[in-house]
Amino acid sequence: MKRPDKRILLSYPHMSGDEIEYVRDAFASNWIAPLGPHVDAFEKETAEFAGVRSALALSSGSAAIHLALILLGVGAGDTVFCSALTFIASAAPAVYQNAVPVFIDSDEDTWNMSPRALRRAFKAAEAKGVMPKCVIVAELYGQPPKLDEITEICEEYGVPVLEDAAEAVGAEYRGKKCGSFGSIGVYSYNGNKIITSSGGGMLLSDNEEYTARARFLATQARDAAPWYEHTEIGYNYRMSNILAALGRAQMLHLEERVARRRAVFERYREELSCVPGLSFMPEYEKCRATRWLTAVLISPQTGKSFMDVLRYMDRQNVECRPVWKPLHRQPVFKGCGYFADGEKSVSDSLFERGLCLPSASAMTDEEQEWVIRSIKECLS
Ligand SMILES: *Cc1c(COP(=O)(O)O)cnc(C)c1O
Repeated sequence: MKRPDKRILLSYPHMSGDEIEYVRDAFASNWIAPLGPHVDAFEKETAEFAGVRSALALSSGSAAIHLALILLGVGAGDTVFCSALTFIASAAPAVYQNAVPVFIDSDEDTWNMSPRALRRAFKAAEAKGVMPKCVIVAELYGQPPKLDEITEICEEYGVPVLEDAAEAVGAEYRGKKCGSFGSIGVYSYNGNKIITSSGGGMLLSDNEEYTARARFLATQARDAAPWYEHTEIGYNYRMSNILAALGRAQMLHLEERVARRRAVFERYREELSCVPGLSFMPEYEKCRATRWLTAVLISPQTGKSFMDVLRYMDRQNVECRPVWKPLHRQPVFKGCGYFADGEKSVSDSLFERGLCLPSASAMTDEEQEWVIRSIKECLS
């Protein structure tokens, strides 16, 4: 095998060919923007898919998280609990609201929010007399967290869950779709996600008052009047009809895309499990992760760090990526609170060893073969 000329990328859009027909339809009807029938249909189809009563298509997953925080009453000076091991977009909208994030560690079983650390954070908040306004639970690389335990703890304290399912579109926990567990759930259709509308997001909720209010806020908070009447400040956060057309066409293939990402993961596991010192992100019982990205741990016994492997792979024309740097370690969140799982911080230890391998659903078998061979070479 020789080094590929074309770089093997981590994750990129996977078009089926149906997209152009859907977008053509939007053009033919001249529903270009802002809204239109594809937006309505995309919302309806996504709500049905997720098993929730209502959904709202937005310009990004970040916009959906921002509106969700507003709906949950997060404002200046409030505290919000948030997964530590996730992309910054999980927590940044809390700062848009001038709220203060407090970060919660992962557990070893799911790499997601640790119920034990969450309970400790609640106990500390109770002692201080300042309860968080909500708990933002991320679903790392499409893996469902321990949702039963987390929901139970949050219910005990009467604090709502915001489920950040940006990476978990199509994932399941106990046979129910991710995105349907929180008071509000969020999907992302960014270009590198499981399916893409080239950019966009969805807010999901069983509470139709939430989606109605979010719809109002996302459309510049226009009151019902013949002229432009405003009693509140809103946002320009809606999804355009063209992008919704693209998103709907992608939805038709969502199950295949998840199955393919899972197959990519399985092949890595079959072929690389024999490499001493290399291990894989687990899958929690009763769950079906999307395996958006295949994540592995490189133990010190290999004599290599994750950055050594990343640099080696780069020379092989393969794009790898470190696991998210935990948010409590980001300079911008310096001084924010953090609750570790136990004696040691799990998210820190995952970051120090973690690496994501190319996982695109459109990746060819030959490309994956090259990645596997390169990893074996690097670690042999
Ligand atoms: C991608 C992502 C988001 C944000 O979605 P955008 O559509 O890119 O704004 C939020 N949270 C997580 C965990 C993500 O991976």
